[in-house]
Amino acid sequence: MTFDALFQAQLDQLKSEGNYRIFAELERQCGAHPRAQNICDAGEKRDITVWCSNDYLGMGQHPDVVARMQEVVGQCGAGAGGTRNISGTNSHHVALEAELADLHNKEAALLFTSGYVSNWAALSTLGSRLPNAVILSDALNHASMIEGIRHSRAQKVIWRHNDPEDLDRKLAALPANATKIVAFESVYSMDGDIAPIREIVEVCEKHGAMSYIDEVHAVGMYGPRGGGVAEREGLMDRITLIEGTLGKAYGVVGGYIAGSRALCDFIRSFASGFIFTTALPPAIAAAAQTSIAHLKVSGEERARQQRQVALLRKLLDRAGIPHLDNPSHIIPVMIKDPVKCRQIADILMQDFGIYVQPINYPTVPKGTERLRFTPGPNHTDADLHHLVNALTVLWKQCALSHAVA
Ligand code: PLP
Repeated sequence: MTFDALFQAQLDQLKSEGNYRIFAELERQCGAHPRAQNICDAGEKRDITVWCSNDYLGMGQHPDVVARMQEVVGQCGAGAGGTRNISGTNSHHVALEAELADLHNKEAALLFTSGYVSNWAALSTLGSRLPNAVILSDALNHASMIEGIRHSRAQKVIWRHNDPEDLDRKLAALPANATKIVAFESVYSMDGDIAPIREIVEVCEKHGAMSYIDEVHAVGMYGPRGGGVAEREGLMDRITLIEGTLGKAYGVVGGYIAGSRALCDFIRSFASGFIFTTALPPAIAAAAQTSIAHLKVSGEERARQQRQVALLRKLLDRAGIPHLDNPSHIIPVMIKDPVKCRQIADILMQDFGIYVQPINYPTVPKGTERLRFTPGPNHTDADLHHLVNALTVLWKQCALSHAVA
């Protein structure tokens, strides 16, 4: 058997389950988000509207962010030139870390090349280097946290999703000499539910546990300065480590942690995922800083985005299209079948110019396949009506085919 045959057997398995991923090739158009062009199989381009972007507020195309990136590429060139340790630390990284520390009201922050890497590196370092570490992980934590915990080889305890009482019981059962780290998210990106952060923090405090929150889907989006759900709820000071991304609401790329000076210095000094990789390009850091600074003082994008989310929910309700009820900006429409999910997404793209990527296993459990809509401030009311009309047509067709069957 050749190696390719080994690869192909597993790919065929994915295809037969309907879980093979087909990427939509897009050309984003600066200033036009959420409009983009889709490059079709034949090579021609068609105009589409993106409904599943994590550039939640369109900041990736904000004129100030784009101008800053262009300006700093002109000043510093394209790349950082090395790891942070070996000639890669630039004044733009230092300024961005100060901006992030201020955002979360922490002493320090530390940059990584992505949110995935920041979770992986921070959790694997905490779990492997702290004495008798036990990491208590919410059952629905993101893959980047799971991988970081696994790599740390620390003892792992999974607590029921968003259940502080279960966390309390599990913490109480640990030996007194354990160093306890509680890892959870604020906004869970697939169901759009939000953690009871206050209760979780209180349980952590009761047991002397470190609290580690992933605010990847919340930074820029919630809180008066975009500091996330913990900022909105006045809890940032009670959380040991806040992790976030620069690639979603801030529209650029990169990840970070924010915490005490000693904590950030510890991760900086021991995390292989920080030490042994080339730093983010200075222009990326400068653009991200511009985006963060903008969203600290401007609530306009958040307000308009929240309006569009509320309106889309209302229109879906009116049309009788079931969606998960949650308090966040994420609107999952449940299909519960991988093949149907793919088919509906294909029809939306081909017949209606609507791009929403089907969310299938392993991103979500089998049987919970869905379309995940993320309305942004630049989706017009007409866009929302067009989307709901298209879904209504498809829903009627589905009902009809059920009836005929
Ligand atoms: N944490 C969560 C909860 C995520 O959903 C994601 C990505 O979607 C990440 C971390 C990784 O962030 P990034 O895309 O910046 O690597």
